[in-house]
Amino acid sequence: MLNRRNFLQLSSLGFGSLFNQDVFAKNRNRSRPIVISTWPEGLKANEEAWKILKSNGKALDAVEKGVNVTESSINCCVGLGANPDRDGIVTLDACIMDEMGNCGAVAALERIKHPVSVARMVMEKTPHVFLVGEGAQQFAVKEGFTLDEQVLSPSAKKEYENWLKKSEYKPIINIEKGHGPFAPSQLEDGAYNHDTIGMVALDASGNVSGSCTTSGMGFKMRGRVGDSPIIGAGLFVDNEVGAATATGVGEEVIRICGTHLVVELMRQGNSPEEACRKAVHRIVKRDKAKAKDLQVGFIAINKNGEHGGFCIQKGFDYAVCYADDKNYLIQAKSYF
Ligand code: ASP
Repeated sequence: MLNRRNFLQLSSLGFGSLFNQDVFAKNRNRSRPIVISTWPEGLKANEEAWKILKSNGKALDAVEKGVNVTESSINCCVGLGANPDRDGIVTLDACIMDEMGNCGAVAALERIKHPVSVARMVMEKTPHVFLVGEGAQQFAVKEGFTLDEQVLSPSAKKEYENWLKKSEYKPIINIEKGHGPFAPSQLEDGAYNHDTIGMVALDASGNVSGSCTTSGMGFKMRGRVGDSPIIGAGLFVDNEVGAATATGVGEEVIRICGTHLVVELMRQGNSPEEACRKAVHRIVKRDKAKAKDLQVGFIAINKNGEHGGFCIQKGFDYAVCYADDKNYLIQAKSYF
């Protein structure tokens, strides 16, 4: 296993610079199929998504099965092993969107391991887009999802007990301490402090889909929902243009309809990176002083298979995969 110390050593030896964006720049154009996802956990999720994409599977299946991997990881920041709300309860939010503009979402879902798969069922089996709380859980159970015990993972329990000492809601700026490269199998569970995975993919048939799943900000108010399950905020797909997903302080993303904005900026001719950069600037412009204490990151792909990302603070990587042996992290450029 590559632990954080070894990983930093590798980076300090300059190994990381071999994998900078310039080296990969030539590969960034017109890859199809392709899948990208937020944060280093995206590497493992991409691996699963790639199995589907490389055998001419659908982007929609890839983005669901891909993030299922992260939802299952008990020590990860996403899923039932994640930090709870301020009442000590883990609540999950997720959404999914396909190439036809069909979408489904769930929020404040408790005790169900795979919220993104429930979101897909909402999309496919109901006349609605969004189910929340008890109703979402009832629907999931009716569709055959197992109701897990309401117990905190050992790491979440420890963090929650620690948090209770002061009970202050202060979102931690979610950044990484270092950057790739490392293989998906070397990634340590729980090494990062954010709460979300967003994934967008372009399949061999040229169709785009996306997913986003989260436990939300740790120690949030009971009932709080962030951007991640909101179509147009945490995720947006338009098969004429491309797709985008977001991570970071959800309230800021919701205020600018972040991923819808990114997709519309791509429609106007901006590259994925430029579109993400302009959306980040929109957030910062509202209140630059406040933005210094915030993290938001966007990632996007367009119909040509080009990808890009941008964030407020340094320390946001996203994982890109377009071949069995091409699954790597890219450090997104940042405003600060
Ligand atoms: N965007 C998520 C939320 O606000 C949190 C995260 O991305 O870490 O709920």
